[in-house]
Amino acid sequence: MAFLNDHYLKLKAGYLFPEIGRRVREFTEANPQAKVIRLGIGDVTQPLAPAVIDAFHKAVDDLTRPDSFMGYGPEQGYEFLINTLIEKAYKPLGVSLKSSEIFISDGSKCDCANILDIFALNNRVAICDPVYPVYNDTNVMVGRTGEADDKGYYKGLVYLPCTEENGFAPAIPQEKVDIVYLCYPNNPTGAVASREVLQQWVDYALANETVLFFDAAYEAFITEPGIPRSIYELPGAEQCAIEFRSFSKTAGFTGVRCGLTVVPEGLLARTGDGETVALNTLWNRRQSTKFNGVSYPVQKAAAAVYSDEGWAQVQETIAYYMENARLIREGLQDAGLTVYGGINAPYIWLKAPGGMTSWDFFDKLLSECHVVGTPGSGFGPSGEGFYRLSAFGDRDNVIEAVKRIRKNLA
Ligand SMILES: *Cc1c(COP(=O)(O)O)cnc(C)c1O
Repeated sequence: MAFLNDHYLKLKAGYLFPEIGRRVREFTEANPQAKVIRLGIGDVTQPLAPAVIDAFHKAVDDLTRPDSFMGYGPEQGYEFLINTLIEKAYKPLGVSLKSSEIFISDGSKCDCANILDIFALNNRVAICDPVYPVYNDTNVMVGRTGEADDKGYYKGLVYLPCTEENGFAPAIPQEKVDIVYLCYPNNPTGAVASREVLQQWVDYALANETVLFFDAAYEAFITEPGIPRSIYELPGAEQCAIEFRSFSKTAGFTGVRCGLTVVPEGLLARTGDGETVALNTLWNRRQSTKFNGVSYPVQKAAAAVYSDEGWAQVQETIAYYMENARLIREGLQDAGLTVYGGINAPYIWLKAPGGMTSWDFFDKLLSECHVVGTPGSGFGPSGEGFYRLSAFGDRDNVIEAVKRIRKNLA
């Protein structure tokens, strides 16, 4: 019999969303008349922008004719999309990238996970708590950790608590770590990092030869001026950071699948013998070997996000979600709840009242308001006592959910 990867058995079995699903199913079976509103899972609800759909259709039609048919594309992505990103997504931020530094992929969840392929196991890795669970679990899978302790912290990882006390901004580690995952705007807390805070991370990284993994999946939701949308807006970041971006939340591509990873050519890491090598070379080799590119119509659809028409339409949808966020945030604040986020991110991070646990508050909102969110403790021990509401729902549901919660708490 073959041997399996033992590290997988260290993962906690009861994953967050199946457990939510189980409780909601139990409730709806017992209360078939209840109209349950789901503001839990971070998936979008609004359709693709018309300009994106047009480009998607046209690209599919290209495949019907021999002269415009496309087979395998470059593993790194088509130049038309990479150049669009350089010009439209990065240049306006004052960031200049080379086409060899951008890698198109089928989404940033995969990239955040796959990037570990090119790093040695003996790296010290720091992760925020609470956190997007992918960062933690993929480190467990590759074998960088021991078992989890009672709290859920895995031996061998460095956890950076993001709490109400520190404004959900983790302190820079006292010790030297080799890799730090940062996610801004943050899922789940909705927090953002100012230029000053990000510069401190970049300075720390340069001083300690640390690589920052910067997940910018929600950069499009920033509404306040002056907050960086890319880590490369900070001087020095091109020598210490990898950035992950996605069309998923920005343009409703959660089902279509397209993302990108930036690995600057000036970003170096050490071999076991102490020599320095560019990570860009390794990532390019990794992608060329294990990945065969994103489909041509999807990349055409993604490029259309940055057309004048597409951009205006996408901004409208983002504004729709952010108005939902405002309604949730202000509605719950008026009801006396303590709420965070929802200004530069589509997530509202709310403090369970009266010292309730995250799951107790989940059960209360489900049974009394028929509203489903996500228990904060599911994102890490420091999320205990918090609860995440997503602004990706449709407007009527958001209004109704806020009304029910307010009535219940009044
Ligand atoms: C949704 C999300 C992503 C994007 O994942 P895709 O695979 O591109 O759909 C990445 N990071 C975080 C923190 C997210 O919430």
